[in-house]
Amino acid sequence: MKIKQNYNLSKLNTFGVDVNAKFFVEVKKEEEIAELFSLPEFKDNKKIFLGGGSNVLFTKDFDGIVILNKLKGIEILEQDEETVTVRAMGGEVWHDLVVFAVNRGYWGIENLSLIPGTVGAAPMQNIGAYGVELKNTLVSVEAYELETGIKKIFSGEECELGYRDSIFKNKLKEKYFISAITLKLSKIPQPNLSYKILREFLEKPARNASHSDAGGNNIQARNPKDISDAVAEIRRSKLPDPKIVGNAGSFFKNVFVTKEQLQKLQESYPDISYFEEDGAFKIPAGWLIEHAGWKGKREGRVGVHDKQALVLVNHGEATGAEIIELANKIIKCVKDKFDLTLAPEVNIV
Ligand SMILES: Cc1cc2nc3c(=O)[nH]c(=O)nc-3n(C[C@H](O)[C@H](O)[C@H](O)COP(=O)(O)OP(=O)(O)OC[C@H]3O[C@@H](n4cnc5c(N)ncnc54)[C@H](O)[C@@H]3O)c2cc1C
Repeated sequence: MKIKQNYNLSKLNTFGVDVNAKFFVEVKKEEEIAELFSLPEFKDNKKIFLGGGSNVLFTKDFDGIVILNKLKGIEILEQDEETVTVRAMGGEVWHDLVVFAVNRGYWGIENLSLIPGTVGAAPMQNIGAYGVELKNTLVSVEAYELETGIKKIFSGEECELGYRDSIFKNKLKEKYFISAITLKLSKIPQPNLSYKILREFLEKPARNASHSDAGGNNIQARNPKDISDAVAEIRRSKLPDPKIVGNAGSFFKNVFVTKEQLQKLQESYPDISYFEEDGAFKIPAGWLIEHAGWKGKREGRVGVHDKQALVLVNHGEATGAEIIELANKIIKCVKDKFDLTLAPEVNIV
């Protein structure tokens, strides 16, 4: 294992923030974990595990050791006529796992197509998109306790997955390294078309069958790949590509409100957007930011994306501090206008 010093992280975080780590190391095999944990640079310093860096914002140089998770491998553990249990190592690219599943006709994670980052980070915030969350298929998480080096297997339930949340972001924050996860997928069709935008996209009639680029779809969701392709196309049209403009996807979480709060807001904003989920009401943070006047706004080297107000962008060479300053202005503005408090989804380091 080669430890590097004063290592630049600008290519390892999708915001593209230019910061250095005091120490840096890659872990490529599970057998290396014991060695990693015994290194003085690991034991004596604060540490952060990184996957794709698509959900972190570095606000300054990292005065500790950054460990890049490169553990690879996807295997089928068991299957019967209806289900298949798949184990994937934490350093696999999440979308590669989705492709593995949809190419074999396994249902369950197709709506989570094209979410950037790694498999190991997926339980951290219970990744979710288009009506599906990791929680729906997660069987277990394998993780090493940082203090003892002991591996523990958490059942899906023990991970306490919630909306963009897990035990690893709360009680066990910075206490475990997630090395692998196991999912249970279905061989029986289970399309989740609960999201209107996805349903409409799939139902849109093909305008002209002789023109493949005519814009129509008319795809019947007969297999998970159809849904995966549709999700990927919708995402590409709406979300900025971090390779082109630095960002970490949704910067803020949607906001839970009580029925009374919602009714009060509806008096002033009758068209306010909201979702009802298991009796709880969630207001899209993007709606709040847009209606506070921030969509597409730019302040120096940072700004709010013009198609998706939930995404803060680095227009080039911005520092983490500049992004935080913008985020704080938005939080204050939304608080003043709607009396609601936005909380970051992104992990601020
Ligand atoms: C354009 C774009 C779109 C996005 N869309 C979505 C979306 O639709 N839904 C969604 O849920 N998210 C979305 N995200 C956020 C992000 O893709 C996910 O949160 C993803 O799971 C992060 O994976 P990562 O490997 O990049 O994590 P990183 O950014 O590397 O790490 C995130 C956090 O997890 C910790 N961590 C990472 N790996 C491990 C590990 N193995 N063990 C312990 N801790 C670890 C890190 O220390 C950090 O605190 C989007 C991001 C972008 C840039």
